[in-house]
Amino acid sequence: MTDLTKLTAVEIAGLVAGGETSAVEVTRAHLDRIAAVEGRVHAFLHVDTEGALAAARAVDERRAAGEELGPLAGVPVAVKDVLTTKGVPTTVGSKILEGWRPPYDATIVQRLRAAGTVMLGKTNMDEFAMGSSTEYSAYGPSHNPWDLDRIPGGSGGGSSAAIAAYEAPLAIGSDTGGSIRQPGAVTGTVGAKPTYGGTSRYGLVAFSSSLDTPGPCARTVLDAALLHAAIGGHDPRDSTSIPQPVPDVVAAARLGATGDLTGVKLGVVTEFSGEGGEPGVMAAFRESVDALAKLGAEIVEISCPHFKYALPAYYLIAPSECSSNLARFDGVRFGLREGDDGNRSLEEVMSLTRDVGFGPEVKRRIMLGTYALSSGYYDAYYGQAQKVRTLITRDFTAAFEQVDALISPTTPFVAFPIGARTADPYQMYLADLYTIPANLYGGPGISVPCGLSEGLPVGLQVMAPTMADDRMYRVAAALESAVGTFTPPAL
Ligand code: GLN
Repeated sequence: MTDLTKLTAVEIAGLVAGGETSAVEVTRAHLDRIAAVEGRVHAFLHVDTEGALAAARAVDERRAAGEELGPLAGVPVAVKDVLTTKGVPTTVGSKILEGWRPPYDATIVQRLRAAGTVMLGKTNMDEFAMGSSTEYSAYGPSHNPWDLDRIPGGSGGGSSAAIAAYEAPLAIGSDTGGSIRQPGAVTGTVGAKPTYGGTSRYGLVAFSSSLDTPGPCARTVLDAALLHAAIGGHDPRDSTSIPQPVPDVVAAARLGATGDLTGVKLGVVTEFSGEGGEPGVMAAFRESVDALAKLGAEIVEISCPHFKYALPAYYLIAPSECSSNLARFDGVRFGLREGDDGNRSLEEVMSLTRDVGFGPEVKRRIMLGTYALSSGYYDAYYGQAQKVRTLITRDFTAAFEQVDALISPTTPFVAFPIGARTADPYQMYLADLYTIPANLYGGPGISVPCGLSEGLPVGLQVMAPTMADDRMYRVAAALESAVGTFTPPAL
């Protein structure tokens, strides 16, 4: 019998639509897989067994009634715990929201339900999406299925670990500085950050509102494109949502899969292709560039001189926005309330709640952001970082006058051992060296597996102009057709 957990989303949806299996069978297979491996992987913070089976039954009933099913009907999906789910616990990886059951679904979650996907549960993440390893989760780290002693990336490491471990074929992540793409790279899976505003932030617990972008994670480029199409598009409930349809990313992925990139011009980012990355990562990247050239792409070098300032600018802008966004967690409105014994003032209760409820990285960001925004320092830090953001956007604009898309490695290093980078925050921040520019600019970026370094996966990043998400899918699918997909050792 086919192992339903090893199939792609496209294959599962086909079997469900054709009546060769049921959504309930598919869901049970994944719940069994979760039960078998979760003790080692810890991808989930909450598994919604009852909700998943009910959603699956509803799909099977709709099929039995002869209703037309969408392209992802009956396909299980894991959702990063940063999105609100009605009645289902949502913690954002933080103690401060422990036990909170939101009264509403995020737009993305509503669209997943409408598409007939089956939400298996909520995945682990660095607290408030701040981190690159899931080690800053208040609920313990997730483990990389390629090597359980290593990190699965972050902040969305639960989502990437879940799909790499065959606990789910699809997952949702959110990318503020790389949290979809870097986990994808280090787990040998596909992760796409859509154009900012191309996917709704309604119900996405805010970290850095001008950067936060939810998006798809999958094991193949086509699966990611289908998920992207299902969740994307205008949402009147998000003031920065773009009132235009998402480009046809599914058609682009199919076109790319033919393996022909004739007429496509790709720019290798000079600043990200020399030193700075591990030799094994750079070697795999260079081999993939050759593979892309063999598919017909024209390859040129493009210098983006301001990209080297992206990391410091991000670590002023993102903490600044976070210090403002996280002010709402005060022990009054949501989740945890500490020390409310009738003898303490409201201020004391708020302060105690935030002291107990937030972990060290979140506190560090709040302090950094508060400092960067404070009077006397604002111009020197936050204001300066915004100017750098403009210069980075100009680098992108100039580059896209010459090439269709930019390519680079996704992250400078392969999955590192758990504990290796927690002592020095800067070492953790470096994981996003290559992904942050696209967030500051707002354009789309995708990580696609491109090879192995010492037995661990390496990702290649494709970056495209805003609202040209289809281009990156075409290039990624073409590379995938050349290098194949990567399967971790059996768990
Ligand atoms: N790792 C980066 C950070 O810690 C990016 C996080 C993200 O994209 N959510 O901020």
